[in-house]
Amino acid sequence: MTAPARSFSPRDPTDRKVLVTEVGTRDGFQAEPTPIPTATKVEILDALAAAGVPSFEATSFVSPRAVPQMADAAEVMARVARRPGVRLQALVPNARGAEAAAAARVDMIVCFVSASESHNEANLNKPIAGSLANVAEVARIARAAGIPLRGAVATAFGCPFEGDVPVDAVLRIVEAYVGEGVRHVSLGDTTGMATPPLVERAVEAIRGRFPAVEIALHFHNTRGIGLANVLAGLALGIREFESSIGGIGGCPFAPGATGNICTEDLVYLLHECGFETGIDLERLIAVARRVEEVVGHPLPGQVMKAGPRLRLHPIESVRRAVG
Ligand code: ZN
Repeated sequence: MTAPARSFSPRDPTDRKVLVTEVGTRDGFQAEPTPIPTATKVEILDALAAAGVPSFEATSFVSPRAVPQMADAAEVMARVARRPGVRLQALVPNARGAEAAAAARVDMIVCFVSASESHNEANLNKPIAGSLANVAEVARIARAAGIPLRGAVATAFGCPFEGDVPVDAVLRIVEAYVGEGVRHVSLGDTTGMATPPLVERAVEAIRGRFPAVEIALHFHNTRGIGLANVLAGLALGIREFESSIGGIGGCPFAPGATGNICTEDLVYLLHECGFETGIDLERLIAVARRVEEVVGHPLPGQVMKAGPRLRLHPIESVRRAVG
């Protein structure tokens, strides 16, 4: 498949604002073998919001037996600072999760279904049709609570068990979401199988069928082209991306899946391309370093190591370098 050459200018060149949704305290911490203390999660969320991050997938209301790392979801939501203009989303797998999320007054509930049957079975232990029935219940609860619902499509660009995921499979889920009143859809590249042509194909297919739907893109850097996929999305006029601080995360049910694209690297790219995020990159890097300390192992983020390109170094520090 060959993609037509295109310049990296947005559909509407005057639209330079990009919404960055931070998923590190959910997608990232969930994949950590050691549970992160609630106070630390709250500290990280507050520090990121203070650095200007406007939107979060803060936690998920799931069975503590299935995902012990998220057992403190209600407590995290109760303790995190609520700032005007900052959106705190929570992921829910079912009605019980939606009720708990509504009781915790999250700003947006996120439901999720995989576009591939086998990944949905592995991740949610039921067929897609069963998950869509759950979505209807979740939507009813969200509506009753007056909380907007966002629909995530996992394995939207490929499945580790089935390979290519047909666009029609993605469209079927988006159609079900739209039928439940969902306006925000997030396409998840759960195992890092997206490529720029696949991004273009999925975004254009959804736009063609559901022009009112707002699309966010959630990429993983499993094969090193996460930010190339962001550029493809920007060129298509997409203005929301999900990422994790330091690049933490991965899907425990997807073999070989490594982390999300990294928030500092994404923000660095966006700013260098003239987009506005409202985020202070230096403060973001400081939080990434703190997260590295908290998890106790190196994180894949690169800008957190090298710094912004115009951060200067004393010449003495490189005098003896030979290559
Ligand atoms: Zn992810």
